[in-house]
Amino acid sequence: MTSATSSDLIPLLTNLQEITYDIDFEQVHKWKREHPGKKAIATFPVYVPHELIYAYGHLPVNIYGGGEEISISHADAILGSFICSISKSTTELLLSHQPFRDAFDGFVFPFICDVARNLSGIFGRRISQPVYMLHLAQNVQSEHSIPYLKNEFMRMVSTLFPDEQLDLEKLRDAISKYNENRALYKKIYELRSETPWKVPLDDLYMTIRVGSNLDVVKHNELLKSKLSEYEKNERPKKDAIRVVVTGNFCEQPPLDIIRLIEQVGCYVIDDDFMIGRRFYQTPVSEEGDPIEALARHYLHEGAKTATRFHEGEKGEVILERVKNANAEGVIFLTAKFCEPALDDLVLQQQALQENGIPSVHIEFEERGSGYENIRLSLETFVESLLFD
Ligand code: SF4
Repeated sequence: MTSATSSDLIPLLTNLQEITYDIDFEQVHKWKREHPGKKAIATFPVYVPHELIYAYGHLPVNIYGGGEEISISHADAILGSFICSISKSTTELLLSHQPFRDAFDGFVFPFICDVARNLSGIFGRRISQPVYMLHLAQNVQSEHSIPYLKNEFMRMVSTLFPDEQLDLEKLRDAISKYNENRALYKKIYELRSETPWKVPLDDLYMTIRVGSNLDVVKHNELLKSKLSEYEKNERPKKDAIRVVVTGNFCEQPPLDIIRLIEQVGCYVIDDDFMIGRRFYQTPVSEEGDPIEALARHYLHEGAKTATRFHEGEKGEVILERVKNANAEGVIFLTAKFCEPALDDLVLQQQALQENGIPSVHIEFEERGSGYENIRLSLETFVESLLFD
């Protein structure tokens, strides 16, 4: 769709934080000005097959609520108190932030939990753009899940683009570009596992997150540039502990908390940050039926998050992650009132305890005020590992 040049990357590299957290979605508006007649489709976490939207020549965009950039007033009137911040700030953007409404020509909410499902209804009643609730398959072992999921993917795009036809060659091409994106993430994560001091967590986080607003081709160029920057990074090695951070697959923690994790002495080797953009570790097949390839990959290769039914017990999954990361401990970083995260937490903490692996549980909200308690918990956790 777009060919990126190195000069296109300069504004991204120099304003990474500003663009990453821009709730006016200026990058999306810019893309639409450059592609008249094309659409931008907002997708809620965790996972939506962006390749399918991209194959139509439209721009898929991950949305992650308003974070610390918006205060909640209108959304409180229609949502209950005991629900996660991302659902409230996303609703607030809908109700009170015109640049957000204008940026998008359609919305997709995957059925990851009851809250996300209800957001599709709230959006559908308030706007004229199409809204689709994507009902991903729950049974990963049944062969019937494949035709079901293929059908569901096609229902999604026919709702979003009712007058357009899918070109399977363009879908294969989209899969190839997203495979390149995944391969680049993988290389960066491998580099971080080998030499974590070269890949600062906050910079990596924003490098991945900014891709939510960009054409995947442009993001691939950014990732290549960042990979080369990280490889040359001369930051000194610290006496830090290797950890897995999990539970933050949907709502994203404030940047200050992400920075705190490294400041207190942790190297994050494996994590759930922006997991929807890194949902697969392996490439999606570029042979045969591309819609079936996407469906099969979701069922068998998808990230083992709390929002997806998957092979393997929850406890085994966290133990395997700890082993693969050669980690000394686990930080459960969960959004306040996030039920899927809390359900997994119980089973995973138990498995870690039984195997003598230390963990700490930190709860966050998008708009926290001061993180002294979080700092204290993290410092205590690190000290207990260093001086045990
Ligand atoms: S943060 Fe948790 S509860 Fe909230 S929408 Fe996401 S998965 Fe659902």
